[in-house]
Amino acid sequence: SAFQYCDQLVQDFEKVIVQPIVKPSSVYYTGIDLGTAYIVLTVLDERYQPVAGAYRFANVVKDGMVVDYIGAIRIVKELKQELEEKLGTELLFASAALPPGTFTLDSGAIKHVVQGAGFEITKLLDEPTAANAVLKIKNGAIVDIGGGTTGIAILKDGEVIYVADEPTGGTHFSLVIAGACKMSFEEAEQYKRNSQNHRELTPVLRPVIEKVSSIISRHVQDYSVPEIYLVGGTCCLEGIETIIAKQTNLPTFKPRNPMFVTPLGIAMNC
Ligand code: ATP
Repeated sequence: SAFQYCDQLVQDFEKVIVQPIVKPSSVYYTGIDLGTAYIVLTVLDERYQPVAGAYRFANVVKDGMVVDYIGAIRIVKELKQELEEKLGTELLFASAALPPGTFTLDSGAIKHVVQGAGFEITKLLDEPTAANAVLKIKNGAIVDIGGGTTGIAILKDGEVIYVADEPTGGTHFSLVIAGACKMSFEEAEQYKRNSQNHRELTPVLRPVIEKVSSIISRHVQDYSVPEIYLVGGTCCLEGIETIIAKQTNLPTFKPRNPMFVTPLGIAMNC
């Protein structure tokens, strides 16, 4: 399938999160994804194979902006240390990514978080470019539905030609669930992340997913986009691709675990 490379890589990554691969490597590449909901560290070896990974729920970024600078440094430091202990090596080099369109705004803050945690920063790239290092799409739209934001990137001949970032995502989904099911936000988050509840949640979430679809349509309408590729944690929701395909009238694909595509792509660019 089109996702063979991506799915294999993600599968390998899922394994090393649980059980790191400890064997000598001349160099390690660490990717740091600072998200609204999660901070993910991805470690690749000299052959760009995943050897370790860790992630933590965190409230240090909002709408793609670092709002808790000290907190962000502390968590990245802790995850770095945790992985260094598991691998028995020091992690020196890291790359990081920014949502599309926030480069001039926030690139300084992200850079300082990475450096503040003790890494030498080798590259700062935009999230869709990172995702496409794993997806390898030539023509289409990459839609990254994260926690606080939804990024839309249009690719033509393998190059990003248009980007947009919209302030909606999984956090919004959790708020809807909290309201409909009379739960706290945290309970709704937990409930939503259990795939056994996805079927039951579809009718509750359908209006929000349709709203996200109309936002996608608005951005892709001026380009002849042949298909949509979904990444980001919110796309773990079972059946989200079916609703988006129907509403946008475009074939819509998602890889095996859409949450780890961008983090892996960040490390691939280290
Ligand atoms: P942003 O891109 O907005 O800065 P982020 O990088 O933290 O945020 P991701 O890690 O891609 O975003 O996704 C986080 C979102 O995905 C959260 O809202 C979380 O609740 C949701 N999520 C994670 N796993 C699942 C799951 N299995 N089912 C449904 N939603 C999930």
